[in-house]
Amino acid sequence: MSIDYLRISVTDRCNLRCVYCNPLGESGFINHDEILKFEEIHRIVRLLAGRGIRKVRLTGGEPLIRKNVTELVKKLASVEGIDELALTTNGILLGEMAAELKDAGLDRVNISIDSVGRDNYKDITGFDFLEKATEGLHKALEVGLGPVKLNSVIIKGVNDSAEQILLLAGMSLKLPVTVRFIEYYPTGNNTRPAGDYVPNGEIKKIIEGKFGQLGNIINGKSDGPASSFKIEGSAGSIGFISGRSSVFCETCNRLRLTSDGKIMPCLYSSQQYDLKKLIRYEATDDELLEYFKMILDKKSEYTKLTSTSSDFLMQDIGG
Ligand code: SAM
Repeated sequence: MSIDYLRISVTDRCNLRCVYCNPLGESGFINHDEILKFEEIHRIVRLLAGRGIRKVRLTGGEPLIRKNVTELVKKLASVEGIDELALTTNGILLGEMAAELKDAGLDRVNISIDSVGRDNYKDITGFDFLEKATEGLHKALEVGLGPVKLNSVIIKGVNDSAEQILLLAGMSLKLPVTVRFIEYYPTGNNTRPAGDYVPNGEIKKIIEGKFGQLGNIINGKSDGPASSFKIEGSAGSIGFISGRSSVFCETCNRLRLTSDGKIMPCLYSSQQYDLKKLIRYEATDDELLEYFKMILDKKSEYTKLTSTSSDFLMQDIGG
């Protein structure tokens, strides 16, 4: 599998406190000096484009709370070889920022909305911001930051009622969005127990019970590990990302870059490569390229089956 996708966490800070991600607001304490500067991120992307990276996603924490993030988008959009620049956000600030992000060269967004019930959304995120997130979604569609995907993590006893799942799936009926159900992956302390994940097979059954059998659709270029389906006659589609109940290591095409400059080749491994250290010790481009080659060569050694850690916060590594 060629590695052509880089996910970059641009900040570990977030304006929500999701129960499955970072409910107590821990982290957010990485010193500003330790966070990669825009010039450093730009250099990494420029060099990795020379090693085959074609798609970049900005994530976090919440990427839209990183000061002047639009400037970063502008810089990355002009890197030769990058065909797609995307961003994953909770959508809260998208209403006010979508147009400037589009103008700066952002291609598309994924928006995390785990429930479309106002109280339920508040229970999950800690904030009464569903309306703002929905406004962000509509603005993204309006300015053409599509295809837009909605990410939902379903947690047992929190947002797993058939009613909420059907409301989420139903968003794809009229809107040209892909509603994606992502299986919960247990991470650092104080998040939910591993057993609180709901297998996507159960979610699919609930959706089919109401809307009839889902039609299988061929994955698009941007669908990654999702399996994609459609409710008959709908404007959008439905995706399932089943990182717990299935293994998709053979099709994994990504690297992750943490906000403090470490490369993580695999979500299921604690192995990190400290790129920032090299950069700040003034490594040359050639030295960095050698380092990337070593990481890329080793990537296939890490798989879910050799899993060593889930002792991190998703907020630090960007999902
Ligand atoms: N703040 C942005 C957002 O809310 O989308 C970007 C960061 S968030 C960490 C990126 C993605 O990771 C979101 O879609 C979120 O639902 C997902 N995520 C976070 N914690 C997760 C977990 N423990 N298991 C599965 N997905 C998780």
